[in-house]
Amino acid sequence: MEKIVMDRVSCHVTARCNLRCKMCAVYIPKLYELGNVPEYKIEDIKRSFETYFGLVEQVRLISITGGEPMLYPYLDQLIEYLLQYEESFSKLEVFTNGTLNIPDTVLKALAHSQKTVLFVDNYGPPISKKISNIEQQCKDFHVKYTIREYYGENAHMGGWVDRNILPEKLCREKAKEHSQKCAAGRPGGRLFTIFGNLLVFCATPYCGYRIGAVPESDVLQVDLADPTTTLDEKYERLQELCNAEFNPGCAWCNGMGIYENMERFIPGEQVE
Ligand code: SF4
Repeated sequence: MEKIVMDRVSCHVTARCNLRCKMCAVYIPKLYELGNVPEYKIEDIKRSFETYFGLVEQVRLISITGGEPMLYPYLDQLIEYLLQYEESFSKLEVFTNGTLNIPDTVLKALAHSQKTVLFVDNYGPPISKKISNIEQQCKDFHVKYTIREYYGENAHMGGWVDRNILPEKLCREKAKEHSQKCAAGRPGGRLFTIFGNLLVFCATPYCGYRIGAVPESDVLQVDLADPTTTLDEKYERLQELCNAEFNPGCAWCNGMGIYENMERFIPGEQVE
């Protein structure tokens, strides 16, 4: 088995969040409304990465996201665990919304490698109140960080685009076009995401499925913990996803970077 070389994998550790952004790309406010806010067990995530690195030789980028990762009580453990695979990736990013101080244990874990970086989103002073504290914490602990200004006239990327699940499913040809042009779908740059035991091709269809807006049949996934399949079978399945002509979940989504001049929305604006 010749292991796979992959561009990016992200890991959603929790859907818990202290914000309720109107345009949340993973529909966290809806999950709260439905009373179904998953948080993944650290043992499951570790086991998933163990299997993942049994299938993948090298991945350029690992991103830890949520929800708000700083609410995940085992974030430090997860970072330390992933650093055991440091030879197999180029960069490890952890995201935060700039509203919470970073636990010392997380800063210490991040400081253990030059490959880590903390991405701090700044939605403006009324929301992201901890930006200067976090900046000082990173300096004190020698952690690399990047602050993304998401407010004012020069907001990062001009603001957010509408990533809601489309009300009607697109035709197969359109879905194919989206999959091939999207920054998360095109061959060579496909974005895979780990949700507990599952590895999915693009988080959007799976997040749509979680809120009941996308059928499970349109979610391309590998169950990394499935006891009924061998590692070789999981490898075959992952190869299928890497080489799939397109992602059927793209029939529900306008994608990333496909259309120019898409309407931009104020990042971090909260639901009533
Ligand atoms: S078009 Fe949407 S579902 Fe398809 S890869 Fe891009 S973000 Fe994911």
